[in-house]
Amino acid sequence: MKNILMIGTGGTIASGQTAEGLAPELDPLQLLRDTPRVAQLCRVDCLQLYSLDSTNIRPCHWLGLARAIRERYDQYDGFVISHGTDTMAYTAAALSYLIQDCPKPIVLTGAQKPIWYDGTDSKRNLTDAFLYACRGCGGVQIVFNGKVILGTRARKTRTKSFNAFSSIDYPETAVFR
Ligand code: GLU
Repeated sequence: MKNILMIGTGGTIASGQTAEGLAPELDPLQLLRDTPRVAQLCRVDCLQLYSLDSTNIRPCHWLGLARAIRERYDQYDGFVISHGTDTMAYTAAALSYLIQDCPKPIVLTGAQKPIWYDGTDSKRNLTDAFLYACRGCGGVQIVFNGKVILGTRARKTRTKSFNAFSSIDYPETAVFR
């Protein structure tokens, strides 16, 4: 079985209901509890790095993510990062340049609805992200709504649809059927 590190950074996927509305507060372990299929695919360790709405992700957080992966690189076969959708494409691009020529998959995913919502896209996206981290190519990719998109080519093109990300001027790396 492959060893995958899941890194939590916040976003809608990890949001709970608070007095001020939705806010990121769930950690990767809690997300995985709702996604039992992942345990059949691989062995997972969890690291809660940030609990942020991704509009508050800054270059220092990109550097922190790259450092967290570099420090643990030899222990894992792949990495899954849960992230808010608003700036996921920027983080994916930054990591693509910070960690170049990487033979192991580094997969970002998130969701339009929190993991506990009826009809949430969180469970599908998370499961697909782990599938790709176990069996996919190296480098940074976004896995979202059944598509795998190269980290340097992804853009959030829809704010409400589950089909939130597009690959710009480049084919998708893979699709889930
Ligand atoms: N603005 C939030 C974020 O990017 C919500 C969007 C989302 O995660 O889907 O973290």
